[in-house]
Amino acid sequence: MTHGKRKSPQKEANRLSNLLRQVLGEDRFPVDVEALAREVSRNNEDPIGKIVGGELPGFEGMLRPHRRRPEWHIVYNDDPRYRGRVRFTIAHEFGHYQLHRPPLSAQDYVSGTLERDCDFQCKPLRPSAWQDADRQREEEADTFASFLLMPLDDYRAQVVGEEMTVELLNHVTDRYGVSLTAACRKWIDFTDKRAAMVVARDGYAKWGRASKSALKSGIFVRSGIPIPDDALAAVSANARGFVSDRAIPRPAGVWSFSRGSQPVRELAMVSEFLDMSLTILQFDEDVDLRQIEAEEPWDAYDQLRSGRNQ
Ligand SMILES: [Zn+2]
Repeated sequence: MTHGKRKSPQKEANRLSNLLRQVLGEDRFPVDVEALAREVSRNNEDPIGKIVGGELPGFEGMLRPHRRRPEWHIVYNDDPRYRGRVRFTIAHEFGHYQLHRPPLSAQDYVSGTLERDCDFQCKPLRPSAWQDADRQREEEADTFASFLLMPLDDYRAQVVGEEMTVELLNHVTDRYGVSLTAACRKWIDFTDKRAAMVVARDGYAKWGRASKSALKSGIFVRSGIPIPDDALAAVSANARGFVSDRAIPRPAGVWSFSRGSQPVRELAMVSEFLDMSLTILQFDEDVDLRQIEAEEPWDAYDQLRSGRNQ
């Protein structure tokens, strides 16, 4: 192991995923993450006992130890706004259990109650809100959840060679039982295509992500940047759900990045309930990346400019 005792979140998720495949075959989706967490932890001295919803203002979920016996509980936020993320949250907490928890034994309870504080209290991932150590832990739990619920080989097989459409996204979110945002983020992380996603509120990007090949060609989504006036999410702010079923071709000039503006195919979803929009940008593939990479390195903090400023 290269990182001492630290487990790789991806490897651990893949190990469990392979177990599921052996037991359930190809019919293992969506992953029954509650049953899996109970089954996997059953033989430990400190198994996962309860998995319950509860009021957790400001938190998505928690993994916390029983105060009187070696056992852990997963609590997820049952506010309706979090409903689409419940399975991901349980998988995230299960990730803390597998990767980060201090194993508890009867020794820890000799005084009758647990003295140590080892709760995991999890907020929606906000890149700047975490201290470094916490942030690494939270990202690892997210990675674990992502690979457990959406195994890479299976996801690739669902979307191979296809342009992202609403139908395909619905297929993926149904298959894995995850939110649209989680499914998109995963796709952006592994796709070979030049693509990016932007999650926005009140006309500004809360956060975004570009695929590897998009990054190489200078497409970087910085949080806080304004959404262009002509973006579908801006012109359709009163729409509900997806603005269109298929990506709509947009000319150069709508979305601008550090290398200038390019034509793009845009898919946008507006959610009044969550008070946000999600935009998926898909770029043409026929760009000479070698030529782009030969230019000066780009500044990661000035990658996406508003179309107005061109
Ligand atoms: Zn967490």
